[in-house]
Amino acid sequence: ARAVDALTRLVRDIPDFPEPGIVFKDITPLLADPAGFGAVVEALAEAGRDEDGQVVVDKVVGMEARGFILAAPVALALGVGFAPVRKAGKLPHLTHRVDYALEYGEAVLELHRDAVAAGDRVLLVDDVLATGGTAGATCDLVRRCGAEPVGFAVLMELGFLDGRAAVGDVPVTSLLTV
Ligand code: 5GP
Repeated sequence: ARAVDALTRLVRDIPDFPEPGIVFKDITPLLADPAGFGAVVEALAEAGRDEDGQVVVDKVVGMEARGFILAAPVALALGVGFAPVRKAGKLPHLTHRVDYALEYGEAVLELHRDAVAAGDRVLLVDDVLATGGTAGATCDLVRRCGAEPVGFAVLMELGFLDGRAAVGDVPVTSLLTV
């Protein structure tokens, strides 16, 4: 309830960003509020625990760029490591690469091959689930490492886009559907 309240109060709509017709969810006021930021991190971290509060994931993966801001404190809250998924050409070591479709055109995401181990149970964390392209590509990257995406946790889901379809049977935890 504290997390949902923080999201409702502290995420603002920016019309026509980054292009005309898009209403962008700006999370920077939420990040600037330590109580709100802490509440949403704790709520996202619940996706990595079972009903008894036991941690059931081995790694948290966050997607560039706002996913980093949320996934890193979630990893620390769970006491597991963090790994970044980045846009093409940013990661210095050997990577797996996945091409995925954007609304217009294509993009590439990468993950270090040694960022997650074979058999690891991985929680994905991002700020917003829109079309699901980013999430679907990240699931593919995790599987390419031989690991298993066991959950995807986001602050907000744009309900009219059906992004959940892109992650198949990976359970999605969304704190707020808009
Ligand atoms: P998708 O791949 O699901 O279409 O888009 C999700 C990605 O784009 C996420 O990484 C998210 O950060 C970003 N994104 C798309 N729309 C918004 C938005 O309205 N607000 C924010 N903060 N991020 C968005």
